[in-house]
Amino acid sequence: MSEATSQDAVASDAQPVFAPWALDAAQEIMDRCDKLAEFSDMEGGIERTYLSPEMDQVYTLVGEWMRSAGLTVHRDPAGNLIGHVEGRTPGLPALILGSHLDTVPDAGKYDGILGVITGLAVAKQLIASGEAAKLPFSLDVVAFGDEEGVRYGATLLGSYALAGKWKDEWLQLRDKNGMSMSEAFTSFGLDPSKVRDAAYTREQAVGYLEFHIEQGPILEQRDRALSSVSSIAAASRYVVSVDGESRHIATPYDLRKDALTSAAEMIEAIDRISQAAGTRANVGGLSTLPGGVNVIASNATFTLDLRAGTNELRDEVYGRIWQAFDEVAAKRGVSYSKRCIHTADAMICDEFLRGCIEQGIVEAEQKEAFGLISYPGHDGMAVGELLPIAMLYVRCKGGISHNPGESVRLDDVAYGADAFSRAVLAVARAQEAKE
Ligand SMILES: [Zn+2]
Repeated sequence: MSEATSQDAVASDAQPVFAPWALDAAQEIMDRCDKLAEFSDMEGGIERTYLSPEMDQVYTLVGEWMRSAGLTVHRDPAGNLIGHVEGRTPGLPALILGSHLDTVPDAGKYDGILGVITGLAVAKQLIASGEAAKLPFSLDVVAFGDEEGVRYGATLLGSYALAGKWKDEWLQLRDKNGMSMSEAFTSFGLDPSKVRDAAYTREQAVGYLEFHIEQGPILEQRDRALSSVSSIAAASRYVVSVDGESRHIATPYDLRKDALTSAAEMIEAIDRISQAAGTRANVGGLSTLPGGVNVIASNATFTLDLRAGTNELRDEVYGRIWQAFDEVAAKRGVSYSKRCIHTADAMICDEFLRGCIEQGIVEAEQKEAFGLISYPGHDGMAVGELLPIAMLYVRCKGGISHNPGESVRLDDVAYGADAFSRAVLAVARAQEAKE
């Protein structure tokens, strides 16, 4: 990663340098994101979930946009929407441009949606300019039906299906109204026994590129529109239970085994260790027993989520955290146990594809490109289990996401569309050079 230079400051005051088509495309992208925000099953906000009637309506509309741009359109057996463009000869493996059209409750307009619609805009431009017909691969613009996992708890369902990692047990999960996923497939017009047919083979695709809002403040702090992603963070989640002894408040301090003050000291240690290591940790849940105002807590149980750019860093930081916990427990006369409830390895972006993304950024912005660690999870995590992946990040206001206040700038989207298109052409040039 490189720091911003003085040249950046000059360039940000200069006239935009993105390709002329990109500004019109960006306006259309913004208008389309506004339009899709109207399809919601939540009163007064945006919420769109897997296999829902709103997703069906959105697929119909996006499918029309795809067809009018010259793509052929189908829904895959996992409930994803795919627009296809042939390359220089029919039947070539695809470069996939993907993201998701589902949302969290009370969502913004851009998380996932911007990536799908920008992927479509790039395909449209490449068709219109005649460049698509010269590509040494085909293009698949993929809209995943589930990334957020809101309806069934399990996440990344669309992208896991594409990557061949579908689990049939998911079909038995039920939504809050008691409808099983299997029933939801049927009501969506799909056969739940065929979901696995959505899988690509390694030979069917050359790779996967995803355009996404940053969902963090770094690009804004650096006064930059775009970056690549170096890796999608490794994550592990634990529930930690601290056991002490419930005693009267009258107990002198040297005789106490206070589970809650011990937990407080442990949580402070997490914060200190994670900050020093440059990782991201959060303790979002805490409960105590017995919970009396004049009773020393016998138990404190809290959650812990830690994300790091690499598996090694995550494991090293956890090592330091457990060591700090051991010291707190010894000092305060309590014991603790920990239970891992989730773990996901880091997804390192493919060096070649990331290079193509960065080439696109350099050409579009005429500035140096750099990579950021993605602390949020993305479809690329799942697709990366089958294919090489890379991501292009675009600045969002204040880093705010999963919130109706999500906001992106028109000129940033123009730079992003231009860079994404140039990244596709960079992949093509590199592939042709190898042939
Ligand atoms: Zn997303």
